[in-house]
Amino acid sequence: MSGFAPVRARINQYQEEMILRLQELIAIPSEKSSPAGPGAPFGPEIARALEYVLAWGEKEGFRTENFSGYAGHLEYGEGEEDVGVLLHLDVVPAGAGWQHPPFHGVLAGDRIYGRGAVDDKGPAVAVLYALKALKEAGIRTARKIRVIFGCDEESGWQCMKHYFQEAPKPALGFVPDADFPLIHCEKGSVVLQLQAGYNPSPAGGLELLRVTGGTRHNVVPESAEALLLPADSGAGVWDRLQDICAKDPRVTLEKTGGQIRLQVKGEAAHASLPHLGENAIIRLLAILAALGEKDGPWEPIALLAKKITDFTGKGLGIACQDQISGALTCNLGTIAIGNGKVQLGLDIRYPLCLDEESIVARIKAELGGGGFEITGRHGLPPHYLPAESPLVRTLLAAYQEETGDFSPPLAIGGRTYATALGNGVAFGPNLPGRPQLAHQKDEYIQVADLMLAAGIYGRALFYLATRTFRKEDGEK
Ligand SMILES: [Zn+2]
Repeated sequence: MSGFAPVRARINQYQEEMILRLQELIAIPSEKSSPAGPGAPFGPEIARALEYVLAWGEKEGFRTENFSGYAGHLEYGEGEEDVGVLLHLDVVPAGAGWQHPPFHGVLAGDRIYGRGAVDDKGPAVAVLYALKALKEAGIRTARKIRVIFGCDEESGWQCMKHYFQEAPKPALGFVPDADFPLIHCEKGSVVLQLQAGYNPSPAGGLELLRVTGGTRHNVVPESAEALLLPADSGAGVWDRLQDICAKDPRVTLEKTGGQIRLQVKGEAAHASLPHLGENAIIRLLAILAALGEKDGPWEPIALLAKKITDFTGKGLGIACQDQISGALTCNLGTIAIGNGKVQLGLDIRYPLCLDEESIVARIKAELGGGGFEITGRHGLPPHYLPAESPLVRTLLAAYQEETGDFSPPLAIGGRTYATALGNGVAFGPNLPGRPQLAHQKDEYIQVADLMLAAGIYGRALFYLATRTFRKEDGEK
């Protein structure tokens, strides 16, 4: 029997208990709300969820600490260095339309339903029971294991800001808050707000009253709308629009009073996966530019329609890709035109072969001539650990030994908590081929997947806490 076998055997025995714990944790509706005073900066329910897991840890004999309700941790074993596991206990709002009540932890067949079942309470229970199994099996460690619970992952990561002011970063670790086998590359991201002014009352021609579209920079906009005021009866403009739109089913044209309303429907998707959506703003800009009007807002519109025709960034001179991280994506997420101002929001996810400064410089070069200025900017560099790094190899081995699956590690455009951990990667819980249920209605986790995740996390912790990596292997 390998050293891990007694741990694995114990995990299997915990199934009933794990289901119960997960149901109890789901029953705490830990959506962010107003502070309930000291120790509850994100509202009373999130504080209760944190107290719940820390009380469990105490009862099981782990060292625990609550960091003023921002975060908490429990620890096992001894060692100079720490292996960190970073989880979160807050959930996104349940929303409507559930078949199963979102905060009851209903067990139906092999599925446990509820908000947080897979994001991130199921993984939390899997890790807690993996830790219990290590302890009960009497595993001696060369590194200390520290399981950290953040309370604000879904909104602002305030929890991690606070926690890492008070506690050191673990030497290495993982984040059970995304996909298996693991994510070793998260593209860099930069969000830009741009603005250009125009003369709001040019002489004659077609007047553009306003344009609106999109709700957030990180969502492919599913609708956009323009309101036009033709100078004459509007018949000419109406006919031209009919021609340009040529029965496009996504476009609705409507005459109201002397105005023309132009609505475009798209398809929403996450900005990191723009190929899954259909950008309504880009289509709207193309239609408006095709009217061929001059002056006022029409110049910046023509420029945007020329430079932003898709999500690759090629018109802006930033399209690129590499073998590891894939292609750059650029989402024109929001637009507002009116009262002499054009404002837009771009959400760009870039591969390892590019950097934020170059992107900003190229966009300034492409749009600056049209009067566009950058009025807001927020960037995060890529997060990347090579596939050959000891941490990635060890985690992959744990996954492969438990599942028999040899899928390669993943690169994504989204961002995970791994950025907050530093020397760590996102590792599960979603298995390849499973639907993405995080943030969806009727979120669930399969009991078999919960148990498999506990086995994988147990094995990973066993390897990381009992083995020592050589410094020259590149571990910090
Ligand atoms: Zn999550």
